[in-house]
Amino acid sequence: MSYDRNNVFARILRGELPCHKVHEDEHTLAFMDIMPQTPGHTLVIPRAEARDLFELPAEVLTATIVATQRVAHAVRQAFSPPGVMIAQFNGAAAGQTVFHLHFHVIPRYDGESLTLHGAKPGDSQVLAAHAERIRACLQV
Ligand code: 5GP
Repeated sequence: MSYDRNNVFARILRGELPCHKVHEDEHTLAFMDIMPQTPGHTLVIPRAEARDLFELPAEVLTATIVATQRVAHAVRQAFSPPGVMIAQFNGAAAGQTVFHLHFHVIPRYDGESLTLHGAKPGDSQVLAAHAERIRACLQV
């Protein structure tokens, strides 16, 4: 299947849809997941058009995973969770719902299960405050 230029993340990249931005560089953009599975749930995406892991050239994938590590460091510092989960799905059968490659950075807490994947929209003001907390940790 070919890349759909109107998927939500492509539209966020073009500035047609808003997002709570956390980080950006030449190759990547990171922003809060609109339906967080735990507080601080952040997404990291490449700017390049790629439906999934298999479509991204290796050098951009390298930049994307390095950005993911950087954002995960900041999320960990901002929320102090005992664990941080990095998740990435390829294909609807694997649970992918937005067909532009993305890495989930999800703080995890002992004994706390995740809320359902992509189920409940977060409060916009809370998401903005969380993005601010993570951005502050990226600057140090
Ligand atoms: P996937 O199921 O493809 O791995 O994850 C897609 C993620 O994108 C879900 O966690 C969902 O909450 C999130 N998402 C879907 N639409 C939007 C949107 O318009 N803005 C943001 N920030 N996140 C979105």
